[in-house]
Amino acid sequence: MTQYDDANIFARILRGEIPSQRVYEDAETVAFMDVMPQGPGHLLVVPKAPSRNLLDADPAVLARLIPVVQKLARAAKTAFAADGVTVMQFNEPASGQTVFHLHFHIIPRFDGEPLHP
Ligand code: 5GP
Repeated sequence: MTQYDDANIFARILRGEIPSQRVYEDAETVAFMDVMPQGPGHLLVVPKAPSRNLLDADPAVLARLIPVVQKLARAAKTAFAADGVTVMQFNEPASGQTVFHLHFHIIPRFDGEPLHP
């Protein structure tokens, strides 16, 4: 399996080396706004523990992370008065992953909007 590279952009954000618009933080998790949002309220939920993606993540980390993803998905849906919310996550370049530190996308969605503009 490909090794984790701590020079990735989210590791640098976690270390405070580059800025981000943080909207949530706890002992194990940070969430910040996506710099190229697919829509209003597009945020990224990132565990502080290093893993390249879901495939190499520690299940114990995931067990604590998923309730945070749920909480933030609910909060984003409410905050943006959305009709729905997409939660998505990519693993390896073939799937569309471009930043190689595990993250979940949370994207508020609205009735009638095109999902693939
Ligand atoms: P993925 O790896 O799941 O395809 O997506 C990575 C996401 O990170 C993209 O939606 C992209 O817009 C976002 N992203 C890339 N670089 C930065 C950055 O420097 N800051 C923030 N906040 N988001 C970023």
